[in-house]
Amino acid sequence: MRITGKQLINGQWLAGEAGQYQAVNPATGQKIAPTLSYASKAQVASAVAAAEAAAPLYANTSAAQRAEFLQRCAEEVMALGDELIERVMQETGYPRGRVEGERGRICHQLRLFASSIRTGDYLDIRIDTALPERQPLPRPDIRFMNQPLGPVVVFGASNFPLAFSVAGGDTAAALAAGCPVLVKGHNSHPGSCELVAQALDNAVKACGLPAGVFSLLMGSGREIGSELVVAPAVKAVGFTGSLAGGMALFKLANNRPEPIPVFAEMGSVNPVVFLPQALQQSAAALAQGYVASLTLGSGQFCVNPGVAVAIAGPELDSFLQSAGEALAKIPAGVMLNDNIADAYDKGTAHLAAQAGVSLAGCGASVTAEQGFYTQAKLFQVDAATFLANPHLQEEVFGHTSVVVVCDDQKQLLQVVSSLKGQLTGTIHCTEPELAEQSKLVQLLRSKVGRLVINNFPTGVEVCDAMMHGGPFPAATDARFTSVGTASIARFIRPICFQNYPQALLPQELQDSNPLQISRLVNGVRTTAAVEAAVAGAS
Ligand code: NAP
Repeated sequence: MRITGKQLINGQWLAGEAGQYQAVNPATGQKIAPTLSYASKAQVASAVAAAEAAAPLYANTSAAQRAEFLQRCAEEVMALGDELIERVMQETGYPRGRVEGERGRICHQLRLFASSIRTGDYLDIRIDTALPERQPLPRPDIRFMNQPLGPVVVFGASNFPLAFSVAGGDTAAALAAGCPVLVKGHNSHPGSCELVAQALDNAVKACGLPAGVFSLLMGSGREIGSELVVAPAVKAVGFTGSLAGGMALFKLANNRPEPIPVFAEMGSVNPVVFLPQALQQSAAALAQGYVASLTLGSGQFCVNPGVAVAIAGPELDSFLQSAGEALAKIPAGVMLNDNIADAYDKGTAHLAAQAGVSLAGCGASVTAEQGFYTQAKLFQVDAATFLANPHLQEEVFGHTSVVVVCDDQKQLLQVVSSLKGQLTGTIHCTEPELAEQSKLVQLLRSKVGRLVINNFPTGVEVCDAMMHGGPFPAATDARFTSVGTASIARFIRPICFQNYPQALLPQELQDSNPLQISRLVNGVRTTAAVEAAVAGAS
């Protein structure tokens, strides 16, 4: 048994001083050995002090050193082997394939950041050389680059025990940027958190990095999570989870004497619009695809489709019938913890109690006597009722969705127009139909971070081009993604050096371009040395 229940603070594994607990298997409701510990506020303070001490040293590492470290993190995670997979399965109720997929995703993510930072593109180097003869005033030499923000606190989500947890997207992006990371682990999968933290600790030590580069603290969000966010040395927060949790931390961070950014990815109902021609062509297949997307992982995905919108007619009737049939075959699903199962049951009961809402289909009922199981549910409501009742577009986390039935195209646009900010918006359509829907496309573009055509929103690719975020309340800052290499932008800030001695400049900014990275020199993008670039331009 490798799990110790300890905290990782300044490179040491220490028993938490604020009490003990055990993880719970959501499929059985049973506690899992061993006994684990919660960190105290004093322990949080020492982890923050270690991160603060590590910050300038880690910021000064080269991209090549950090890339090597990220690669090593991936290797160490893989070296945890089946112990990690089995622990995650026990703590989440997820099947092996899902857990192995998530492990593959975090390793891919770490490696992708490793190769991405080697290019130097994220530094966005800009050089404007001096123009001493310029009239009426000379121009000084000015050189711009991005640099790390400093220590970052990461709050993992319950539903991604690996991909949005200890070594998940936020951690990978912050470490790639050159920021030490303090993870507040999620209490739904604490043993999994510790195993992954052990892997990262091994990588820190193997790469000779300062101990405070990575810490893991377990405990209550309101206790130690808040303490981390208000610590003066902390410079940014990455969060995935509920709207209530994200906003509590956002407000806390904004009320500090020195406010800091909180990049919180929160609730979303990910609307899916089915246009008439698409429904005419393949109502049954679309219904099956929708139900598969809705019920994947018991619907515990931030991109789960919680609202469908379509125009009334025989095609929609046939879609609803096929969806009901497909849903009836879905077994009761295990939820991640008792709070989420409880919130789901209350949320679906609340939906069912709303005037004008009817049940269009449901999955198999819950028969298990233990564990945190729930039943998939599909509701139906007319657009006028939906428009009059804002509760109907609130996220109920899990395998439930509301189909909004519109009288016509005008009402469909009203429904879409009424939606809040979303991670994704999807349109199922034929190409000619899409060409005629510029208003719908424009509306969705103003509300979502990812516009999906003839796919379903579940499944977020980790790549350079991904945008996973969106206007509030999907996220606290619509300008940034939390998935893909562009997510590094959250943890860097620009600095420019004016009239700085050449020999003392960071390598990335030196005339000779020793790292051969792409730079904007006097308005021209080039990998050439400054002298050659200036000569080429004149
Ligand atoms: P959560 O309750 O927001 O918790 C996420 C993390 O934030 C936990 O570590 C939690 O610590 C901490 N936290 C929550 N409220 C806090 C507060 N007021 N102050 C300080 N720290 C706080 O999210 P979750 O446990 O992952 O899932 C619960 C709900 O979140 C779901 O029902 C669902 O609605 C939503 N969710 C959304 C997404 C998404 O991506 N959109 C993903 C997952 C979940 P404690 O556990 O100690 O409170």
